Amino acid sequence: MASKIQFLGTGGGRINMIQQLRATAGIYAELMGAKIYIDPGPGALIKSRAQKIPLPKLDAILLSHCHIDHTNDAAALIEAMTHGTRKKRGILAGSVSALEGPDKPVSSYHQGFVSKSLTLRPDEEFSIGKLKITTTPTEHTDKTGIGFIFHAENTISYLSDTNYTKKIAKNHIGSGIIILNCLYLKWDDSKADTYSQKHMDVEDTKKFVKDINPELAIIQHFGMGIIKHGPWKVAQEIQEETGVKTIAARDNQVFDIGGKKGKTGNLKVWGEKK
Ligand SMILES: [Zn+2]
Repeated sequence: MASKIQFLGTGGGRINMIQQLRATAGIYAELMGAKIYIDPGPGALIKSRAQKIPLPKLDAILLSHCHIDHTNDAAALIEAMTHGTRKKRGILAGSVSALEGPDKPVSSYHQGFVSKSLTLRPDEEFSIGKLKITTTPTEHTDKTGIGFIFHAENTISYLSDTNYTKKIAKNHIGSGIIILNCLYLKWDDSKADTYSQKHMDVEDTKKFVKDINPELAIIQHFGMGIIKHGPWKVAQEIQEETGVKTIAARDNQVFDIGGKKGKTGNLKVWGEKK
């Protein structure tokens, strides 16, 4: 069964989001036959249309936490997944902050159109068809934020927005492919405000890659500093220091996930320079 991951947007953060230097549309994946959309930030609907993503066939929308660069287009995608709200179908699964509570970004009105709304906490397990997914903890300003591990032909970890901690890294050991939201070039405590805290910078990202030691690390969710510096330079630096193959994802890039579990031997990266 062919499985693939497409990065519809590889940008994150506030300044990049409002400028859209890198799109903030999130990730589309087909894994073990399940069609899922992860963290649809601003632009997800438009980018999906441009990339011919089969939104009416979506099986699930996953929200790792409530921040706008991860959830803004969720309601629009629910309308697409439910054929203009005419057909009750699909799963909406997300953190407590995304689905419950007074500031939830997806209204009860929209949650009412899907066939199942799943509120998730760390260390839980659920399935979308044949695809098993486990949730992992994060350390982020959204305290109920979660990461995901997808148990497809290969095991794929999406850590979401989080600080580095050894404990969080431990959850992802054994994953063949890890997706890291590397937002900052270098975290500067003196510029800290409540939003900026608890994201990965390049040093944090290296620590995660070293601890988890996957076959492939994909970095994305870049803020302005990294975009200006050149994400590919960051990937090269991480690869040289950790010895792990590291790719800075580009907008619309597709990764074909093949091969046996835990092996990236058949991995094809469309558009990657030889
Ligand atoms: Zn966030």
